[in-house]
Amino acid sequence: MKNIKDYNIEDLKQELIKLGEKSYRAEQIFKWIYIDNVTSFDDMTNLSLDLREKLKNNFSLCIFKILRKQVSKDGTIKYLFDVLDGNSIETVLMKYHHGYSLCVSTQIGCKMGCKFCASTGIGFERNLSSGEIVEELLAVERDEKIKISNVVFMGIGEPLDNYDNVINSIKIINNPKGINIGARHISVSTSGLVPMIYKLADENIQCTLSISLHATNNEKRSEMMPINNKYSIEELIQACKDYIDKTNRRISFEYALAKDNNDNLEDAKELVKLLKGMLCHVNLIPINKIDNGKYVKSSNENILRFRDYLNEHGITATVRRELGSDIEAACGQLRRKNLNQE
Ligand code: SF4
Repeated sequence: MKNIKDYNIEDLKQELIKLGEKSYRAEQIFKWIYIDNVTSFDDMTNLSLDLREKLKNNFSLCIFKILRKQVSKDGTIKYLFDVLDGNSIETVLMKYHHGYSLCVSTQIGCKMGCKFCASTGIGFERNLSSGEIVEELLAVERDEKIKISNVVFMGIGEPLDNYDNVINSIKIINNPKGINIGARHISVSTSGLVPMIYKLADENIQCTLSISLHATNNEKRSEMMPINNKYSIEELIQACKDYIDKTNRRISFEYALAKDNNDNLEDAKELVKLLKGMLCHVNLIPINKIDNGKYVKSSNENILRFRDYLNEHGITATVRRELGSDIEAACGQLRRKNLNQE
């Protein structure tokens, strides 16, 4: 059965017309799903019984089951959701002073093979549909009885490898008749799928693009991120410059610092050279240890020295607060799981 959450409002209008209904019903349905967050078509009480029956016969509401919920000592919450086909994914809720931020997964597993990331460890199963991505947010809002104000596409999976579904989910999340989270409060990350960066630049979506950079030369980056063998740093940086020219949007570069690997002053100097003059921000992330991972977190001293060097040389850099590492909810620690295998 079709997942009704896979449809943005324009496509849902077309579906309703096919069912012999007026298109404005889509707006009523959007309100029930995305504002009232109902879990049954029967709850949509301003729709006729006939329409509710039609909806039940043609669509599912795709309500995820919480398999596990872990709460970190810093308040971060990690969910393991049953996505209703035997697979599971993780979603992380972070509480900031400015509101709630949700890190959503976009694929079940990941093909990219980044060496510091647990998400790729047990391979790739399939893409999440746009409705499944949106349901991550709705399921958390139902459970915690909150409204989420920021969404980051940085969970399990490479968002731009599931391009169409990710873009459609942004349209749904962004729609003023529904969840209504402004595009500026939505970030999409990529390990560096260069053609998709060009494609994203052509969309009229004001979300923030976040590039997982992590190294400043091809040798080191290819070692950490195999995708670099396909799209070199030079091609990636050129795509970022073109993206900025076209959108006038600032790019965020993620740089996970690993001891004796990419955290010395020479790396900081190379990074300044690479990003000089670009409209960008660097997020420094103390690398998180994963099972079998070979990278070890940099010392605080090195992290601060790296940050200060960037700031002193014209590149705005901040160190990301580590949230949820005690429950393996931090960057690079998410993975699809089978509870029976633990
Ligand atoms: S860092 Fe992102 S792209 Fe790389 S393996 Fe992990 S989930 Fe995939």
